[in-house]
Amino acid sequence: MTHVITQTCCNDATCVPACPVNCIHPTPDEPDYATAEMLYIDPDGCIDCGACIDVCPVNAIYPDYELPDHLAPFTDLNSAYFEAPQRRDYEPVHPPRHTPTVPPSDEPLRVAVVGSGPAGLYAAEELLGIRSAGIKVDVIEKLPVPGGLVRYGVAPDHQSTKTVWNQLARTMGKPGFRLLANVEVGRDINHEDLATRYHAVVYANGADADKCLGIPGEDMPGSHSAGELVGWYNGHPDFAELRFDFSNERVVVLGNGNVAVDIARVLLSSVDDLRRTDISATALAQIAESQVREVVIVGRRGVAEAAFTTAELLGLARVEGLSISSEVDELSAEGSLSDVVASRFTTAPQKNRLLHELSARATSDSKMVSFRFLHSPIEIVGNDRVAGVRLARNEMVREGTAVVARPTGDVEEIKCGMVVRSLGFQGRPIGSLPFDAQRSVLPTREGRVLSSGGDPIAGVYAAGWIKRGPSGVIGTNKACAIETVRALLDDYAAAKLTPPAVGGDLLDLVSPAVDVAGWRAIDSRERSTGKAEGRPRTKMTSVTSMLEAASIHHRS
Ligand code: FAD
Ligand code: NAP
Repeated sequence: MTHVITQTCCNDATCVPACPVNCIHPTPDEPDYATAEMLYIDPDGCIDCGACIDVCPVNAIYPDYELPDHLAPFTDLNSAYFEAPQRRDYEPVHPPRHTPTVPPSDEPLRVAVVGSGPAGLYAAEELLGIRSAGIKVDVIEKLPVPGGLVRYGVAPDHQSTKTVWNQLARTMGKPGFRLLANVEVGRDINHEDLATRYHAVVYANGADADKCLGIPGEDMPGSHSAGELVGWYNGHPDFAELRFDFSNERVVVLGNGNVAVDIARVLLSSVDDLRRTDISATALAQIAESQVREVVIVGRRGVAEAAFTTAELLGLARVEGLSISSEVDELSAEGSLSDVVASRFTTAPQKNRLLHELSARATSDSKMVSFRFLHSPIEIVGNDRVAGVRLARNEMVREGTAVVARPTGDVEEIKCGMVVRSLGFQGRPIGSLPFDAQRSVLPTREGRVLSSGGDPIAGVYAAGWIKRGPSGVIGTNKACAIETVRALLDDYAAAKLTPPAVGGDLLDLVSPAVDVAGWRAIDSRERSTGKAEGRPRTKMTSVTSMLEAASIHHRS
């Protein structure tokens, strides 16, 4: 008997300390953690106590004897991680958690956190966890509602993943927490407004800018970024009113990360299934009229380097009425299961095997997700709107420690009515703060933002995607935020933080902002409208309606 971690694993590692025998790995202090697709339970170590089930924020863990049939492949996926003998060689106890000392002071430590996604709320949770210190945390959010990509990124049919929100939202009820939503740094206030009113500012504002391909036709009507499409189906106010042309049977998604898989699943799921989610009503109506029957997902490298995870491929394979196909020569010819990739734990062999099995089962009378590998887009073609994509065939070659794609000279064209560029995201510069334009992040060391000379700028920190770049699942941001908060508290203890120079409250500058009570009013209205429609919530998609529900009058 063992317990098994399944698809919705958010990697926040809450389960790790709960396990009395330390059999959940990789732990945040192990090297594999940063790149792990998910966490795994060692079947030989598990004592079946169920402690992990109680703490898992996304209900991802089952005893193997209760594992639903559709999640059965996760048993092998969990045990595969421990096949290498060194992965069994773990210490049975965890090092004690280091809690920095916060010196007693008449004036409480005041911290502004910019962004209310996972990184911002994990940072707030860590700061407010030192109960005796009386720390005050103001979380500033540009949208009228908190949650970041948990609300506006995670796919609507991943409701189980969205339950992580219950845990994140609990932080908003802690003494010392304040939400100032509908306030944008760079629009309503600037960094100096924060730096002069708080001991420290933590930037946790994510990475929401699109990446460009730089190929002809990229901006043609019918060519969209994943950010637009995901924002649209999730009811983000900036995208909710967009219209997409689903009149052609085929959509091509460029890039093969988990976002590409989300998009394929949402576009091809049955409308009845989507109706039971919190997908935006406008998106649901447009998808109901959709003629799309095939989504082609194109990756420039081979299967071994594919960015989507095996867990998400298994999830896609469970969608009713959907076949998954790939070109067998692309699965086997790439030869890229090289030792470069295999030197760290990878589920690439399982992914490859699964794609072979799924392709063998695919039937042409169902909707289809076609995975293409080893092809780079070189042009989006069409006269006045998208009619296809030209792809150049690649072979994999090693460059130092990296496996990169090199064109072979072969070119093919895939006809389609819409192209989605799902290439990952980028951070944006913040005012005059230093910015690493190559990685599109704030330059940091252990969460401290660095000046152009490489020294920490006193009182300025970063966490989450704006610190690490746009990769990692929700829980990855927890360890990241904890590292940042520890640096901040160490600096405070070492008297490196300047007390606020300007008296008065930030609210004097930005009032009215949506506070926690305002958010609860929005949340409650969305849930009650949703309940009447048999849905978890019906999202409000305009800023005006959200502010009205929060009883806030729009700032001009
Ligand atoms: P974000 O979540 O982006 O939060 C940043 C916040 O800052 C936002 O609320 C934003 O509005 C706010 N902000 C930005 N600029 C400003 C400003 N100037 N002033 C004030 N506020 C500002 N992970 C999973 O585990 N499971 C999933 O199913 C999953 N699905 C995903 C789907 C998509 C489409 C994407 C893109 C990612 C997904 N992830 C998923 C990854 C996960 O969402 C990220 O790891 C996580 O959200 C990053 O957290 P963050 O706090 O750094 O950024
Ligand atoms: P991603 O995982 O970084 O994938 C980006 C894809 O775009 C890769 O296939 C990449 O190929 C490709 N790409 C980038 N530039 C390209 C170019 N110029 N030409 C061709 N292809 C290009 O990004 P993502 O899918 O946006 O996901 C972001 C993060 O969120 C990931 O960590 C992901 O796991 C997480 N997420 C998780 C879930 C979930 O758990 N369910 C869901 C969604 C997102 P290369 O690999 O060759 O660079």
